[in-house]
Amino acid sequence: MAAEAAKAGGDTIFGKIICREIPCKFLYEDDKCVAFNDIEPQAPTHFLVVPKKPISQLSKAEDSDAELLGHLMIVGIKCATELGLTKGYRLILNEGPDGGQSIYQIHLHVCGGRQMKWPPG
Ligand code: AMP
Repeated sequence: MAAEAAKAGGDTIFGKIICREIPCKFLYEDDKCVAFNDIEPQAPTHFLVVPKKPISQLSKAEDSDAELLGHLMIVGIKCATELGLTKGYRLILNEGPDGGQSIYQIHLHVCGGRQMKWPPG
């Protein structure tokens, strides 16, 4: 199946959320992505920004995805500002098994509302 014709969000739970097969309150939506709260928050504020284009993981992204990947960050910034994260926050994108990725549709985590530690676990 051509990527353009593939189901938005891919054949993952995020695909079902994007297609509204699974109900979810979006913090943000446009033609390229959605943002919604993580079901198992790791910080007082923890939301995900997910592209509608199915891209299973960061390492599968192509040159033509550069603008989309940047857009995810811009949306992350806008949502973080709207949610009042004035003191900062952390963006995380887990890649593959060693990166701790569990859902194979690219998603940007945005975590804030507490002091983040370094190094991450
Ligand atoms: P990752 O381990 O980077 O693939 O992150 C997957 C994230 O998706 C985890 O933080 C999960 O808590 C989150 N998650 C899984 N199912 C849902 C869901 N139905 N709604 C919101 N977040 C979810």
